[in-house]
Amino acid sequence: MQEAQNSNFPSALDIVENGLNAHPASEGLMFLKAYFGYKIADSMSSELSSFPKVIQPLGNGALMVDGAMTSQLLGKFQEIVKILSEAEESINELLQVNPSSQEVVAFKGYIDSKKNQLGQESENMKATISNTPNIAGGFCVGCRKSISYDTQKVVFRKSSASQLEAWHLPCFQSKAKN
Ligand SMILES: [Zn+2]
Repeated sequence: MQEAQNSNFPSALDIVENGLNAHPASEGLMFLKAYFGYKIADSMSSELSSFPKVIQPLGNGALMVDGAMTSQLLGKFQEIVKILSEAEESINELLQVNPSSQEVVAFKGYIDSKKNQLGQESENMKATISNTPNIAGGFCVGCRKSISYDTQKVVFRKSSASQLEAWHLPCFQSKAKN
């Protein structure tokens, strides 16, 4: 059922967009365009919940952060926000034609809140990634080589009250075995 929905909304959106090319002023088609766009964005964001966890506790206060996965997730967020922005454009056109439609106003509210939520989450993630080298430094405590926080799996551990140390995941694991 879920799969059928995922595959149907993009093709439904195509059909509506073709219809709009022929009848640019059709309010019904504009609403459908916004609605299908929203449904696509919605099913994409529920797929994200099945994404592997980008942050995993490893016990003893150590945290593993998957940098590559975090970057991928940010990319997905951007895709969804783009689709939502397109849906919002149709809604704005509709509001110009029909400013008092409660249905359209309510739908615009949905789209806005979803967009804001995703925007906030990706801002938080980006801030975390860009702040990390300032807090934990750019080098692995194990091998002393540099760490790429947006592509590698990194383990963080508190070394003292104010210090955070960073490890490559493999370096941390081989240290734990010894
Ligand atoms: Zn290392």
